Amino acid sequence: MLQSIQWLGWDSKMGKEINMNNQQQINIDPNDLEDVSCEKCEGQVFVPAFLFKKISAVLSPNGKASMIPLNIFKCDACGHINQEFIPNKDGEKIL
Ligand SMILES: [Zn+2]
Repeated sequence: MLQSIQWLGWDSKMGKEINMNNQQQINIDPNDLEDVSCEKCEGQVFVPAFLFKKISAVLSPNGKASMIPLNIFKCDACGHINQEFIPNKDGEKIL
């Protein structure tokens, strides 16, 4: 319900011209960008991994205790997870 309200608001305010501008801004040459490398081994290949958070029945949207996966990336060579990949909670890293 909330999501559909936000989407409608965005659609009516922004219009299609702005949407086209956003698409043009994605044309960035990857060679111009800074490489991200592993803090430990300086490897540049990362693979997706998941952190899991438990959500209690009280907080859960469907009223049932469950687990929520958080997508994160780890170094393919040594398994290290860079600090900048770790999400913050209340200003502190969650790992
Ligand atoms: Zn590494």
